[in-house]
Amino acid sequence: MKPALSIVIPVYNEQDSLSLFLEAARPAVGSALALIGPDAHAEYLFVNDGSSDRTGDILAILARLNADVRCVTLSRNFGKEAALAAGIDHASGDAVIPIDVDLQDPPEVIVDMVRQWLAGAQVVNARRTDRSTDGWFKRTSARGFYRLLNRLSDYPIPENVGDFRLLDRQAVDVIKQLGEQARFNKGLFSWIGFRVATVDYVRAARGTGTTKWRLGKLWSLAIDGITASTTMPLRIWSYIGGGIACLAFAYAAFLVAHTIITGTDTPGYASIMVAVLGMGGLNLLSLGIIGEYLGRVAREVRQRPLYVVADQSAAPVAPVAMPIRDEDQWTDQPMRA
Ligand code: UDP
Ligand code: MG
Repeated sequence: MKPALSIVIPVYNEQDSLSLFLEAARPAVGSALALIGPDAHAEYLFVNDGSSDRTGDILAILARLNADVRCVTLSRNFGKEAALAAGIDHASGDAVIPIDVDLQDPPEVIVDMVRQWLAGAQVVNARRTDRSTDGWFKRTSARGFYRLLNRLSDYPIPENVGDFRLLDRQAVDVIKQLGEQARFNKGLFSWIGFRVATVDYVRAARGTGTTKWRLGKLWSLAIDGITASTTMPLRIWSYIGGGIACLAFAYAAFLVAHTIITGTDTPGYASIMVAVLGMGGLNLLSLGIIGEYLGRVAREVRQRPLYVVADQSAAPVAPVAMPIRDEDQWTDQPMRA
């Protein structure tokens, strides 16, 4: 039978955290399943993201001992975003919950998420209300990043919401269609829309092991996040370039007129200035035009669907073009297919 919940856990060199995680998650997932129904069950889908320690062996043992533990092993380390995408692709549950193995995402929150899901939400975000376990630098840089991202992005991406959330099957199926390479899951989860609910939690300190994010990786995630959610950084040059070009041309025209009327004060000044300003203005303007095209190319190659349908029940019962016989017209009889 299909599991009601798929708990998706990307892991990279986490040999000490695996059993601890299962032990901690089981009671919470159990209470969540009790809310769903008497024979609801869950699967724990671990994605081994090319670990080089004993993570793979331990997962194999856990999968042998527990019928509800599954394991997908990637051929090398592809990074958390790719590992998470692999987990979402392989999950079969009615709802999918990505969670970190280090217990920084407290499993108890799953109960609240499932409650919101049963009440009709299709995406349940878990928002950390307190990031004091994260260190000053990560906190401040994250706040700055989200502020910038939300100013630029074409759709809002909630701050303090990580990958830990519940995604309904309908939302998961849309995410699986998105084939883009530069993966920024937090952005995609927001892009899909649907009925969204939010539950709050306090982020704990890492249980065991060490963080797998280094500054360089976080930086490239931030760049992926911005370039995947907006083409604004490209387009902005059209406006800056256009503005400066106008000023440059105006000043060049003024110089020409000034020289004609009052004569040359410094030989060569006017002609050099006109050439420099004119070329500079043209350069910026043409960069802006290239930016406009490049932004469109970027959007096209992502191949996101143009829209996502949430519900079709409001669609007409019969195709509009179908001829209506007189006797059908004002009766409640079901339409012919
Ligand atoms: N992770 C992964 N592949 C990577 C890096 C991390 O699958 O290349 C997993 C890691 O095992 C953990 C989760 O992603 O389950 C979050 O990683 P971490 O706790 O290091 O990130 P932080 O909490 O510091 O943001
Ligand atoms: Mg962590």
